[in-house]
Amino acid sequence: MERNAIGIIGAGIAGLSCARILQKHGYTPVLLEKGRGVGGRVATRRTDEGFQFDHGAQFITARSLDFRDVIASLSREGAAAVWSGMDREIIVGTPSMNAIAKALAEGLDIRRNTRVTELSAGKGNWRAATNLDSVLEFDRIIITAPQPQTVDLIGEEHPLSKAVAGVRMSPCWTLMVTFADQHDIPFTSRSAPDSYLAWIALNSSKPERPDTNSWVVQASAEWSERNLEREPEDVAQEMLLRLCGVLRVDPSSVLHRRAHRWRYAQVEEPLGKPFCRNVAGTLYLGGDWCLDARVEAAWMSGKAIAEDLLGELNA
Ligand SMILES: Cc1cc2nc3c(=O)[nH]c(=O)nc-3n(C[C@H](O)[C@H](O)[C@H](O)COP(=O)(O)OP(=O)(O)OC[C@H]3O[C@@H](n4cnc5c(N)ncnc54)[C@H](O)[C@@H]3O)c2cc1C
Repeated sequence: MERNAIGIIGAGIAGLSCARILQKHGYTPVLLEKGRGVGGRVATRRTDEGFQFDHGAQFITARSLDFRDVIASLSREGAAAVWSGMDREIIVGTPSMNAIAKALAEGLDIRRNTRVTELSAGKGNWRAATNLDSVLEFDRIIITAPQPQTVDLIGEEHPLSKAVAGVRMSPCWTLMVTFADQHDIPFTSRSAPDSYLAWIALNSSKPERPDTNSWVVQASAEWSERNLEREPEDVAQEMLLRLCGVLRVDPSSVLHRRAHRWRYAQVEEPLGKPFCRNVAGTLYLGGDWCLDARVEAAWMSGKAIAEDLLGELNA
């Protein structure tokens, strides 16, 4: 059985920020990520036809000096740039949103396609069983999955599950569409055009994207909740017709369409502090859901966990 000092479940922005800071201080955390790639909800989908969509986070904002520094360094590396033509300064990943996560993941020990299926506490350690039939042992474990998935892992009866029980996350159905023709574009992005569609953006207007007429559309949290279990194809068709109504485009000019369901997309009710941990400092829970529905919040949560853990390790 593989034995490591620190394990991090999830290579989204919270997991990556935590791992980078620990690594900077000489530790070698192991990240276990169920997805093929890194970034979690900072995600990009590419199709065989060469279309590209940022179907998770649309852009990043930085309120803290700390996170501004992170963005500045990503920009210098070519992984982020300003999305011009917006009414304020908005930063996006280049050439895709998940380029941000890829840049942050550089040099870290990340085990992809590795889903932790069971987590159990042993004598002074944690055992993470995975979908690959492997079991990894860790002295300390940090979970950065969305709150409901975190509770599933540690069990509803765990005291930390009770401590985070007030957190609420909402779903989001997201439509990815490419039209055949370039048409007169009434806008490049728009929030809350109606109570059904919460966000519409011309993805291909972001910097360094393929020159296609590709859009990303998010349904409102309320509509997504009501339609959560519907077939993706049904949802795609319904959202497409709605979008075509807003853009005044003929639906028959569609080249590609696909709907993606984010079961846990946005934080509605955060924990109100950057992380939660057990008394011994061997189990940490974190992620955007601790603070706010933004990439920056995920970063800050991961950073706060790393700093607290470093304090424990150096005590
Ligand atoms: C549609 C949508 C639009 C958004 N728009 C914006 C925006 O414009 N601006 C903004 O700032 N924020 C936006 N957000 C929010 C932003 O994406 C999140 O706040 C942030 O990415 C969360 O990062 P995280 O690391 O906390 O969680 P996640 O990104 O969810 O990362 C958690 C990781 O854990 C992995 N995982 C879960 N369970 C397991 C397991 N059992 N084993 C192994 N791995 C596991 C997941 O695969 C995932 O990679 C948006 C989110 C969505 C869904």
